[in-house]
Amino acid sequence: MHPWISDRAESFDSSGIRRVFDLAAKLEDPINLSIGQPDFDVPGEIRQATIEAIESGKNAYSPTQGIAPLRESLQAKVAQQYAQHDDREVFVSSGTSGGLMLSMLSMVNPGDEVIYLDPFFVMYPALVQMCGGIPVPVDSYPDFRLDPEKIEAAITPRTKMILLNSPANPTGVTASASDLKQVAELAAEKNIALVSDEIYSTFHYDDEFVSPAVYNDQTIVIDGFSKSHAMTGWRVGYVHGPADIMAAMLKLQQYSFVCSPQPAQWGAIRALETSLDGYLADYRRKRDLIVEGLSDVYELVKPGGAFYVFPKAPVTSGAAFVEEAISRGLLIIPGNIFSHRDSHFRISFAAPDETLHRGIELLRELARR
Ligand code: PMP
Repeated sequence: MHPWISDRAESFDSSGIRRVFDLAAKLEDPINLSIGQPDFDVPGEIRQATIEAIESGKNAYSPTQGIAPLRESLQAKVAQQYAQHDDREVFVSSGTSGGLMLSMLSMVNPGDEVIYLDPFFVMYPALVQMCGGIPVPVDSYPDFRLDPEKIEAAITPRTKMILLNSPANPTGVTASASDLKQVAELAAEKNIALVSDEIYSTFHYDDEFVSPAVYNDQTIVIDGFSKSHAMTGWRVGYVHGPADIMAAMLKLQQYSFVCSPQPAQWGAIRALETSLDGYLADYRRKRDLIVEGLSDVYELVKPGGAFYVFPKAPVTSGAAFVEEAISRGLLIIPGNIFSHRDSHFRISFAAPDETLHRGIELLRELARR
């Protein structure tokens, strides 16, 4: 280890993901079911709005909280969606990741515990550790349900935050309204910060998306345009919640990310006016395709949202299974990157139909062996 490297940077590693990327780089024409972003491009009118912003000189810093017209549009959307709590403040962050980082930095003290479900989005434990916090993953196998009783059992006097993610990465599972309500009320009762990562809120296939903020008006909601509008490289997210918390987060944003890229924010205004119904229907169909193609040979939970399925590997080690799949040209992600268990693997169905068909065929063959 280099002597200059901080304990913070040493406190977690990302070797698991790097290993998958290294293996992937060696493949020619892989069947790629590993990508965590939509397979469509940013819709044309959004690209055009961003190009126009650049051409008309909107290239400088924006206010740290975001350009006024985008904030106003987001504020209106939030007021409509969370009608009973119209005192929520909104700001524009540098992606959802930026919002997550700021939420940790502004609320987690060293030694504070942060509860989230295992399997989890890879960034969660790392972010908690960067702030000196203690990650408290709550095992949600085999159904990946947000079980309020399990959350309650994980609470200690040091619990500072509960971090929710529905629809979830990597399982695609959506929490039911009643479970969200119970957890939201539990957080309120125990005075624990509730953070809701809603990056997949547009990809909700079987019923209406519900935010825990509906049941707990102190919830900090983090959302963004990366997944909904395929704008992952543009870095536009947004956060809404109680004014004091938003002010603390903005103070930290001012001295770190500064602002989300201004031209992309102009594109985001157009994104709010763009219908995603076509994409949603297409992704629902892809979800059905993959579930129907695999559920008789793999143990899996049908995802209600996002674009992931998290089946159980047909051998004891998920990582060993993924190595085998990659050696056959199929790129999937081992579950142990997102979990303390090594029994499952993640498939992303954000891929062309032809790729999905090839992937299903190979996975069926691997399951039979
Ligand atoms: N949260 C979850 C659950 C995610 O899956 C991702 C992206 N993989 C993010 C946040 C980060 O998204 P962004 O590009 O907006 O930073």
